Amino acid sequence: MIENKAYKLLSEERNVRFWEYRSDNSELNSINVWNSKIDDLISGEKENHSIRVLYKNSWGFVSFQKIGELNDAIEKAVSIGKKLSAFNRNKLNIESDDDIIDSQKTYVKKDPRDISVEDKTKFCVSASKYFEKECGADKVNIRYGDIVTKKFYQNSFGSQINQELIRTSYITNIISKKGNKIESAAKRIGYSKGFEIVDDNWVKCGESALSSVKLLLNASMPNGGKFPIICDSGLTDVFIHEAVGHASEADLVLNDDSCLKNKLNKKITDDNITIVDDATNDLWGSFFYDDEGVKAKKTKIVENGVLKTFLTSRETALRLNLSKTGNARSQDSSFLPIVRMSNTYIEKGDLSFEEMLEDLKNGYYLVGSKGGQVNTKTGNFTFSADYGFEIKNGQIQSPVKGVSLSGNTIETLNNICGIENKYEVGSPGMCGKGGQSVPVIGNCPKIMLKKALVGGN
Ligand SMILES: [Zn+2]
Repeated sequence: MIENKAYKLLSEERNVRFWEYRSDNSELNSINVWNSKIDDLISGEKENHSIRVLYKNSWGFVSFQKIGELNDAIEKAVSIGKKLSAFNRNKLNIESDDDIIDSQKTYVKKDPRDISVEDKTKFCVSASKYFEKECGADKVNIRYGDIVTKKFYQNSFGSQINQELIRTSYITNIISKKGNKIESAAKRIGYSKGFEIVDDNWVKCGESALSSVKLLLNASMPNGGKFPIICDSGLTDVFIHEAVGHASEADLVLNDDSCLKNKLNKKITDDNITIVDDATNDLWGSFFYDDEGVKAKKTKIVENGVLKTFLTSRETALRLNLSKTGNARSQDSSFLPIVRMSNTYIEKGDLSFEEMLEDLKNGYYLVGSKGGQVNTKTGNFTFSADYGFEIKNGQIQSPVKGVSLSGNTIETLNNICGIENKYEVGSPGMCGKGGQSVPVIGNCPKIMLKKALVGGN
C-alpha cells in the first residue's frame, strides 16, 4: 500500500497526474496424472508488485518483487515517464472517477485451500483409475488446477480495492486405439468457483471425453465445400472470441488492426444478434474490478445487430471517446494492463437443436474446436473443429473428422440464420496477447450458418 514516504514521493512530483499501485499474491496447485501415476505436481506461491505513473502525457511503469522496493520503483517509474514525455505530445486527460473503497471475494462452496494437496492428488489418481478400468480407456490423463489470488489496487483518485479471486479447473484427456488408429479427446471445465466443480463434474467430464474419442475412432474425412452448417457451442465460442471479440478490442482498433474499425454505431448484422462480454458472473474469466480499478461490467458489444462499443481500458476509452468497459487486464501485477476479453458470448435465440436440424436439412454439424487462425484486420479466419456429423434430411448421420470452418467475420455474422435457445459453458482457455495470458471462456448457444466453407478432403 502507498503511504507516508511513497505518498510524499509521488505528491511532490508536480507533473505526475495519475498513479496506480498494484500487488498480487497467488497460491496455486497443479496436478497432472497419467494412467494413475503422478506425472507432475506443482504447488507454489508467488508475489508481484508494480507502480505506474502518468508523467505529463507518458506512462512510466516498473514492476518489483517485494514491497520494500517500492520507493526505488517509484523513482524509476517517474524517471521513465519523464524521459518518455520529452517525445510524447499526445494529450491524455485521464478522467478522475469516484474513489472506490471495496473488498470482494469469489464465492465458493468448497474452498480449495481446505483440501490438502495429497487429497487432491488421490482424487485425480482414483478418477484416472476409474476411466482406465471401468470404461476401458487406453490412456487417461487427469489435470487439476486451482489458484487463489489476492489482489490489491490503489490509485491517486483515492481508490483502494481488495479482491480475492479463486479459479478451479479440471481436465480429462482420453487416448484410445482401434486397430492401427489412435485418437485422443479432452473435456475441460473451469470456473470462478471452488473444488465443488470437480465433485459435480468429474464423471460427466470423463464420459464426455470418452464418447468423443469413440466418435473420432469411427469418423471419416468428408469432402470439403460450401454447406449450411450448425456450429456447436464450443466452435461458436471460438468464432465469437477470436473473430469478433479480438476485433472489438479498442487497442487493436487504434492500431488499425480491426475489421470493425469504422463500424461503430453501424448495423453490422441481423437484428436478432447481440454479442456480450460479461465479467460479472461465476465463469472462468470473471473478476470484480479490472487491473485499472474499473468495476467489471456486462458490455453489449453488438446489440440487435448494431456495433455499440469496443472493449476499453482507461486510455483507449479516452482516445476513442467511449465509456470505460472495465476490460484492462494483466497476467499479474508485473505486467501492464492491456485490453482483454473476459467471458464472451452471443445471446441465445429461440430454436431448439431439433428445430435447427429440421431447418438445416442437409449439411454439417461441427463440434468443438482445436483453435485456428484469424486475421483481425481483414476478418478472415479458419478454425478446426474437433469433429462433426453429416446431416441428411434433418437427421444426424455418421461422424466426420479433420473438418474446419473458414470465412470472414462480418460475412459470417450475416450468415447466421438460427440461434439455439440455451447457453452452454465452454472450455476454460488462456487467451494470449502481447506476451500475457489471462483466463477467458465462452458461454454460447449453437448457431446455424446459411452457408460456410467446410474444409475436409
Ligand atoms: Zn484470445
